[in-house]
This record gives sequence, structure tokens and C-alpha cells, in this order.
Amino acid sequence: MNATPQLTLNNGVRMPAIGLGVYQSPPAETAAAVEAALRAGYRHVDTAAVYGNEREVGEGIRRSGVDRSEVFIETKVWISDFGYDATLHAFDKSAAKLGVDQIDLLILHQALPSRFDLTVDAYRALEKLLADGKVRAVGVSNFMRDHLDNLLAKTSIVPAVNQIELHPYFRQPDVAAADTEHGIITQAWSPIGGITFYREGVHTSALEDPVLITIAATHDKTPAQVMLRWGLQQGRSVIPKSTHEHRIIENFQVFDFELSADELDVIDALDTGRRGGPEPEAITLDTFGVAIPEA
Ligand code: NAP
Repeated sequence: MNATPQLTLNNGVRMPAIGLGVYQSPPAETAAAVEAALRAGYRHVDTAAVYGNEREVGEGIRRSGVDRSEVFIETKVWISDFGYDATLHAFDKSAAKLGVDQIDLLILHQALPSRFDLTVDAYRALEKLLADGKVRAVGVSNFMRDHLDNLLAKTSIVPAVNQIELHPYFRQPDVAAADTEHGIITQAWSPIGGITFYREGVHTSALEDPVLITIAATHDKTPAQVMLRWGLQQGRSVIPKSTHEHRIIENFQVFDFELSADELDVIDALDTGRRGGPEPEAITLDTFGVAIPEA
């Protein structure tokens, strides 16, 4: 069974639009979550070297019995492994932990704005891995418009994907527009607003937003399903995370209803313009550097 709608990347590779995210999935729970997702029909998993659970992602895929060729594996190179040779080696580490020869989509996890030279060297290594057939597509994450412009000026392959924080409370329309202008697919992280919001002492969750609850009730769906549908209908890839099977299944039940244009607009209007995650411009090796273990 594989009914997942696909997105076509700018090099022709097809990527299932919805994937399972595994950020903060404890390694001990990750293989079971991946297995549950593949059983539910997912064919795409998004992990990262820095999440410390690539090994368990590979294990979950193998345990599921789904053929490797049917699963789209996406992972990320952490900033501590930026640099041409270091990034080539980062591929070896991730591939060995995942237990695969080829990675479907390998992306730079962040730009290093204060060391953009290292960011470019890392990206050139991704281009080499693509040329050598070790990855099927390459991309970036948390790249703002300036970062994309600077990268494109110095490299030859346009990233296939830019994975950015994107949910109703933080839409980044300018970055999404920049992606579209360059033929880059925008992939939403925290697509159901999972990143925790603490604003003036108040905890806010998009999952409890009254507007989303109302729209969800209209369709007999949940707010999480509405947010995922909103992302998919606007052409994005979405990668919700859960380690609970019932939510993993719930998050995949998003292909049997349609939001109206008005509903999409109402959800767009929830944007606060305030990010939940770290400011991409402020990422440095000093503040975020952490060694990625060998396989
Ligand atoms: P998310 O997917 O928006 O939300 C995940 C949170 O929502 C978890 O606490 C999960 O809890 C809960 N949840 C999941 N499904 C639910 C449902 N149907 N109803 C209610 N609660 C639900 O947030 P995220 O994990 O931050 O982002 C998703 C993925 O994006 C990550 O896993 C990772 O792959 C990627 N990501 C990338 C970056 C980056 O810098 N590139 C940053 C953050 C995330 P349970 O697990 O307990 O169900």
C-alpha cells in the first residue's frame, strides 16, 4: 500500500509529501515509531545526524519489512561537520548508522552565517555526493532568503528542498516565496506547531487554537489534521513527529478532506510573525556546535 501523494523535486526525483519527523524521538522509541508509520502508509522519514537516532530509524525501516527502495530517507548534516571533507565524511557516518548505501535527500541542517565559507564548502560536498550517486537529492534547512541568494551565487545545484519552521503561528511567507522563485520545495518543520511557544509567560499551542478547533470540527477532523492539510494544499512537504501510534496514524489521515480557499486564508491569518525555534542568523559553532559521533 502506498497512496502517499508525491512532490516532484527540481531534479525529477519524487518525494512523498508527508513524512514522519523524529526530532526528540528518544532512540528507544524511534524504531517502533518508524515501523508504525510505515505500517500506516508513510514512505518518508526525516531524521538528522544531531538527533542521535539515525541508527534506530534504519532499524525501524528494516523491521517494517517495507523494501528499502520504497522508503524516502532524509537526513541532515550538522554544522560541526561543515567543510568539504568533513561533510563527505558526515555522509559516511549517517549512511552507516542508517544502514544504507544511498540517502534519498541529504540537507544542510542550518546555514552558518558567520562562516558562510564553511557552509558553501559543505554544500559543494553535497554536490559531489549527488554527482557520485550517493544521494538522490540535496537541500538545505533554515536558510533565509539571503542565505539562499548567497549559496546560489557560489554553487551550481539549486537545493531541492528548504526545510524551515512553518505552521499557522509562523508562516515565513517571504522565505517560502524565495523557495518558490528558485524552484525549491518548502518543507515545514513543526508543521502542527509542535515547537513550544512561551510568550509573555503564556504557553501557546496551535493544537489548542480556537480557530483551528472550529475548522477541524467542520470537517470532523482534528486541529493537527487541519494544519497538515493546510500545508499539503499549499504545496508544502510536511513532516509531523509523534512517537504514539494513534497520532502517527491520525497525522496520515489527511487525504480524505479538503479545506476551502476561505479556510486556508483564515489559517494564514493566524501568523504571529514570531518564530518558536532559534534565530537562523544567530547560529554559530560556539553556541550550537556538538560533535557527531562516528558510526
Ligand atoms: P510537530 O511535528 O509540529 O509536533 C510534534 C509534537 O506534537 C510532539 O510533541 C507530538 O507528541 C505532538 N503530536 C504529534 N501528533 C499529534 C496529534 N495528532 N495531536 C496532538 N499532538 C500531536 O513538531 P516537531 O517535532 O518540532 O517538527 C516535526 C519534525 O520536523 C521533527 O520531528 C524533525 O524531523 C523536523 N524538525 C526540523 C528542524 C530543523 O531545524 N530542520 C527543527 C525542528 C523539527 P507525541 O510524540 O508525544 O505524540
